[in-house]
Amino acid sequence: MAVDWTPHRFSGGALALDTANTVVLRGDPRGFDRFADAAEIARFAEAAARHRADELGGRPLAVAGAAAAKDGIVELREAIDALFRARARRGGEPPGALPRLLRACAAALDDEAEADPGDDPAVDRPAGFAAAVARSALRLICDDASGRIRICANCNWLFLDRSRNGSRVWCDMAVCGNRQKAKRHYRRRTAEEARHG
Ligand SMILES: [Zn+2]
Repeated sequence: MAVDWTPHRFSGGALALDTANTVVLRGDPRGFDRFADAAEIARFAEAAARHRADELGGRPLAVAGAAAAKDGIVELREAIDALFRARARRGGEPPGALPRLLRACAAALDDEAEADPGDDPAVDRPAGFAAAVARSALRLICDDASGRIRICANCNWLFLDRSRNGSRVWCDMAVCGNRQKAKRHYRRRTAEEARHG
């Protein structure tokens, strides 16, 4: 079934993290990959151009030739997740994580340059989707935003915490915050019911 790319699915706060979050419940047996159907990559890119218009400077995103592009974008996505998840955990970064991400970024930027070597910089030329994700990841590295990247306590997604005191726990309070509250409430009620027989 086609994915409805709702604003909630862009809770990462940066295109690179939204892309990492296209794997749902990563590391959980119930987890799954929304890009398993390659058609979703283009649909995600189309929605991302709207939800991330600020970051993209309003440029639309173009996805190059489906199947060939898929391996590249999946490798880029996994490299993003590996690096920033490790940094969010603050448990030390795997030594190969940064070079792996930089290689994936370089490949995406190379592909974009090859696909569109256009000499006149027309403002409305679409950006290559993978290249836009790569630029987003590079900005997170260069702006040293890593200290602000968190892992949602409910769904495991990565998100950029822009709150003043840096204490956000949920990718999206309205969805994950409420789900946790409901779960706590349910646990309390069942515990009370067990006590009172
Ligand atoms: Zn969440």
